[in-house]
Formats: sequence, structure tokens, C-alpha cells
Amino acid sequence: MTDTAISDTASGAEELHFFGHIIDGEEVASLSGESFLSVDPYTRRPWARLALGGRADADRAVAAARRAFDSGPWPRMTAGERRGIIHRFADLIEEHADELALADTRDMGKPITQSRGNDVPRTAMNFRFFADHAALTPSEVYPMDSGHHAYTRYDPAGVVVAIAPWNFPMMLESWKVAPALAWGNTVVLKPAEDSPTSATILARLALEAGMPPGVFNVVHGYGPDSAGQALTENPDVDRITFTGESATGKIIARAASSNLTPVSLELGGKGANVVFADADIDNAVDWSIRAIFTNAGQVCLAGSRIYVQRDLLEQFTRRFVAASRAMRPGDPKDPATQIGPLSSEIHYEKVRGFIDTIAESGGEKIAGGYGDGWFVEPTVILEPLESSRHQREEIFGPVVTIRAFDTEDEVVDLVNDSPFGLNAMVFTENLSRAHRVSSRLVVGTVWVNCFFIRDLRAPFGGAKQSGVGREGGTFSREFFTEPKAVVMQMEPPAH
Ligand code: NAD
Repeated sequence: MTDTAISDTASGAEELHFFGHIIDGEEVASLSGESFLSVDPYTRRPWARLALGGRADADRAVAAARRAFDSGPWPRMTAGERRGIIHRFADLIEEHADELALADTRDMGKPITQSRGNDVPRTAMNFRFFADHAALTPSEVYPMDSGHHAYTRYDPAGVVVAIAPWNFPMMLESWKVAPALAWGNTVVLKPAEDSPTSATILARLALEAGMPPGVFNVVHGYGPDSAGQALTENPDVDRITFTGESATGKIIARAASSNLTPVSLELGGKGANVVFADADIDNAVDWSIRAIFTNAGQVCLAGSRIYVQRDLLEQFTRRFVAASRAMRPGDPKDPATQIGPLSSEIHYEKVRGFIDTIAESGGEKIAGGYGDGWFVEPTVILEPLESSRHQREEIFGPVVTIRAFDTEDEVVDLVNDSPFGLNAMVFTENLSRAHRVSSRLVVGTVWVNCFFIRDLRAPFGGAKQSGVGREGGTFSREFFTEPKAVVMQMEPPAH
């Protein structure tokens, strides 16, 4: 592994750190020699330079992963041996927590309290969980009346391509890379171009932990006509796991279909947050604020359309707006900051487009707007039309709508009348209603009286335009392995 202390200086700006691809155990520049910059959305200046991968780099990484899978030790180790190395890797992630947290914060503007306090520990935990899960989960045995028994082997699938978005860089990458590695696959990760640096750091640490060369590769670059597209078209790839926009997911599914490569897609959302009149209002306001303004609303699961039962509407809205105004924007590196800038200029312009057109939604802006730089204040739109763009499309910023509803049947229909089906929240103190409504919502996850809590054994994924497949526990195992039935004769048949 090479040390990356290569640096250069952009005109008058701070020293830029260089982050290469990690291919076959080496940190390398692109074959073309090209690079690109990561811009810190708070300073709006570049802070890191990255190798810019193209098709040749992607092919090289897949070839390295293929070799490591076909003839290297990783798939041939016991799950227990892999577990030991992955746990060492998780230890190193924890030891490098400050460096990793700062990488994500500088790449995409996430407050350091979130990257350091949430994302790093959860990344380490994800690696530990999947290493343990692969080593300890039993497989099935089927004793047969015929004097045979059948059992299931969960053999690794092969070379896994993981393509990640920018909103929870290392944490979302770990949900893909951890189970893939734990089940004995080799991996090529392409992080998002807006949040690339933590992936290189992770792959350096994996090598330091003793992961053999070629097992965990990282290629940087863009999507279309770049490293991303090349990875999805490579016939030597056995699985593609993607998290990102629904429109990109469709393109990736088409590319994968030319090789019949299985694809797992975690896509966009428009999370509905239903607050019944019998809810604990303190709890509902508290979680509803976190559900939309964490990470400046750049969360696929964000509770971005709130439905409040009419009797509680006035009280809920008043308290929600007051809490939203109390949120503290600022330098994401400052531990006191609660809301950072949006991740990039392009994304800021997209969110601003929604704010500038609130009047067209039929609703009223009762809080928020945009601030300096790429900051957007917590923005609340009251009673937009159900058919408006603001109510139907993923804004992916700190912008929330609030609408009143009267009956349980009505709100179930409103929640389900969406192209997305990732998740919903339900706030109620009525146990029967909580179960009843949860069963009727067409989504991958329902949180009752909470948000964002996840058990890694439970399925995670989306219905409708929000995804294909599920991650988590045995659901990840089904995707990252090639389950095989072995049928054995126990006794020769009597003659
Ligand atoms: P995006 O789709 O623009 O990009 C995601 C990744 O795909 C990036 O690495 C990008 O380079 C790559 N890519 C783009 N086009 C490609 C192509 N043609 N071939 C191969 N790779 C390509 O998404 P984004 O803007 O980075 O992320 C935000 C989106 O991700 C939102 O829609 C959000 O809801 C979604 N998301 C979903 C989940 C989930 O679990 N369902 C989690 C986080 C984010």
C-alpha cells in the first residue's frame, strides 16, 4: 500500500490531499493520469484531489477482484477466519474515526457530530455485525422421508460491484461492502463523486487489517460514460448493489440485464410521517424534526410529507415550526452545528428550484427559505396540493410539507398514493391502530413512534420506485451468495 501524502496546492487555497484508487492492494492514479476535485460545500473550495477513473481503471479493478476471487485465499478461508480480519478492520475504523468523519464532512457538508457520532460507529458496527452473522448463522437441513437429506450451502457469489450515493458515504458503503466481504466475495466499490475520500481511507485500512490484495478495491469516477457505467457493463461481475436515485437505478438495471447480472437497488423516497391526534406530541415533534432535518434533509428516508390529524394540526405545526427555527446552521466542522450546507452547488440549485416555486404548489411557506452560500434553512410548506411536485417528488433537502387529514382510511390512501414506497412513520398511542396502519402501508419500513432505528437482521429496502430487493441479515446473504442445495443419500436403498 502506498502512503498518499501526495499533495498539491490550488491557487491560493489550502493544500489538497490526494486520494487514489485502491486496486489489487495498491493505491494508484488513473491510467489516463486524470484527476478531479472534491469541493468542501462550506468553504466552496476544493479540499481533495481524486484519481478520475474511466473504463480502463474499472476493468482493471474488476480483473483484480476476479483474480482474488478465482485464485486468492479470501473465498477459501472459513467465515471465522474472515471474521477475525473484518473485526480488525472495524477496530481500525474506530481508531481512525476522526479522519473518516472529517472526510465525509468536508466532502458533503454533514455536521461533524453526525459523521463522528453516528456514521463512523455505525460503519464499524456494520462490519462487525455482518462478519459475525456470516460466521454464526446456521443454514437449513431438510431430512427427507426417502432416506436422503438436503442441506443449503451459501457459497460466495463472486465479484461484487457496489455503487454508492453521497448522503451517508461510508455508512451506506458499509451496508454493501460488509456483507459482501463477510460472505467471501471480492468487491469493487465506486463511491459517489461528491463524497469519494472516505472510501479510499476505508480500503487502506482494510489492507492494514490484513485483507488480501484485490479483495476490496475502490475506483473513483463519475457515473455515465465513466467508471460507474463501465462497472455495470462488465461481464466478469457477479452482483451489482446500487444505492442512489430511482432514475439511475433504472439505467443500472438495464445495463446489468445485458449480462443477466443480479441487481439490488436501494432508491429514492418520499417518506410519509403520519401523526394521529392521540400521539404523544412531544415525541412526535421531536422525531419529526429529526426525520426531516437530519443531514439537511439529504436522507432517502426523510419524513418529508407530514400528515397531521386535524384536531392536532394547529398545535403540532406551531411546535414543529418553533423547533425548526431553533436549529443551528453553521460550519459543519463545528460540533455546535446542527444543519450544514447542501452537498454541492448543483444540488443546492435543485432544492432552491423547489423553494422558488412554492406558490405553484398551492401551499404556503410558513418557515425557512435559503441562506448564504449553499445553505437552506429548515423550510415548512403548509397545505400544498396533493398533486404538486412538492408533495410527490423527492426534494432531498430540509424542506417539509404539512397537510391535515381526518380519517385513518383517508391517510392510508394518501400515504400509498405515491410513486415511492421506502418508509413511513406513524405516531399514535393506540396499539391496535399502530399495527393496523403498519400492515396497510405499501413501504419497506414503518417506524412507530420513532425514526431511523434499525436492526441489521431486519429487511431494509423499498417498494415501488424505491427499490428492488432487501438488505440486512439473511436478506443480504441471499443476494451476496449463490445458495446451493446438496442432496445426500444417507443409506443405500434396500434391494
Ligand atoms: P445518483 O443516482 O445520482 O448517484 C449514485 C451513484 O451512482 C453515484 O456513485 C454515481 O456516480 C453513480 N452513477 C450515476 N449514474 C450512473 C450510471 N449510469 N452507471 C453507473 N453508476 C452511475 O444518486 P445520488 O444523488 O448520489 O444520491 C441521492 C439519491 O440516493 C436519492 O434519490 C436518495 O433517496 C437515494 N438514496 C437511497 C437510499 C436507500 O437506501 N434507498 C439511501 C441513500 C440514498
